[in-house]
Amino acid sequence: MYRINCIGILTSGGDAPGMNAAIRSVTRTAIFNGIQVKAIYRGYKGLITGEIKEFHTEDVSNIIQRGGTILKTARCKEFMTPEGRQVAFETMQREGIDALVVIGGDGTFTGAHIFGQEYNVPIVGVPGTIDNDLWGTDSTIGYDTAMNTIVEAVDKIRDTANSHERLFFVEVMGRDAGFLALNSALASGAEAAIIPERLTKEDQLEELIKNGFRKSKNSSIVIVAESPSTGGAQGLAERMHREHPEYDVRVTILGHLQRGGSPKAYDRILASRMGVAAIDALLDEQRSIMIGIVNDEIVHVPFSKAIKDDKQVNPDKLGVLQILSI
Ligand code: ATP
Repeated sequence: MYRINCIGILTSGGDAPGMNAAIRSVTRTAIFNGIQVKAIYRGYKGLITGEIKEFHTEDVSNIIQRGGTILKTARCKEFMTPEGRQVAFETMQREGIDALVVIGGDGTFTGAHIFGQEYNVPIVGVPGTIDNDLWGTDSTIGYDTAMNTIVEAVDKIRDTANSHERLFFVEVMGRDAGFLALNSALASGAEAAIIPERLTKEDQLEELIKNGFRKSKNSSIVIVAESPSTGGAQGLAERMHREHPEYDVRVTILGHLQRGGSPKAYDRILASRMGVAAIDALLDEQRSIMIGIVNDEIVHVPFSKAIKDDKQVNPDKLGVLQILSI
């Protein structure tokens, strides 16, 4: 039995739209429950350098609609070493922080898992990443907004693809996961998605050529996941140039614009619910878990499973994409 008087909150890894809504929710829920909140800046780096400030309810006013993270984020190599984590723990002791809420992706939770075990620190994770690659949750904060950003961009690319009768490879983020690529392909009416999950089974590019791009149309858009295993949009375009020079191929790499912008309503609501759930979980003496959402219900997922188990794209969606691109 322990009592939590003060929590630390940080955002880590890549930024994702909706992180601010999560910071707001965690902060206000903690204060609502009589818990002091310390904001840690620049992810685990701030825990090592001691860049920490107490947050009151007004510190999180007017941020629910803002993209990025007001706490800043960073990738911190020192936290990957036992020495770095020891300094982080000393900072926590000095600041009187009893528990942590960490908002980030699989790397963030890997670090949290190790740190929590080493120093017996209660830590709860809130999934904030556009990649949606964490096992045990239907969605991560930022994924829906990023997908909408991609769809808006592809709609624009389609105008020029049509006018010039071209084949466009549009590269989207997602690391080694094809969620963004597959779902944005469905939502934008693209001809195909080339995703890492399928590459061991067949050559997706050859399959596309063999089936023929849609004959009734004068342009085609293929969404490509950025993973090295797909070859990326540039790699695929070079292959097309060599093997099928009859196609007029263009490449668009959407890059960091996918991360920015105001979070959509879905991500704001998700972040608000997950933030409340994170504090509830700590009060319930849970630790080393990630908050997830499954069938619109909040769930608790052990870090060990969230980061290790493989989350699969739904293969039915590939079938839908194929049917609708005839
Ligand atoms: P995103 O999926 O958006 O990139 P992420 O949380 O996966 O987010 P990473 O850069 O992989 O982003 O991880 C964030 C931070 O977590 C790292 O900079 C590091 O400080 C910490 N971290 C990652 N892996 C470990 C590890 N094995 N041990 C300790 N800390 C780690």
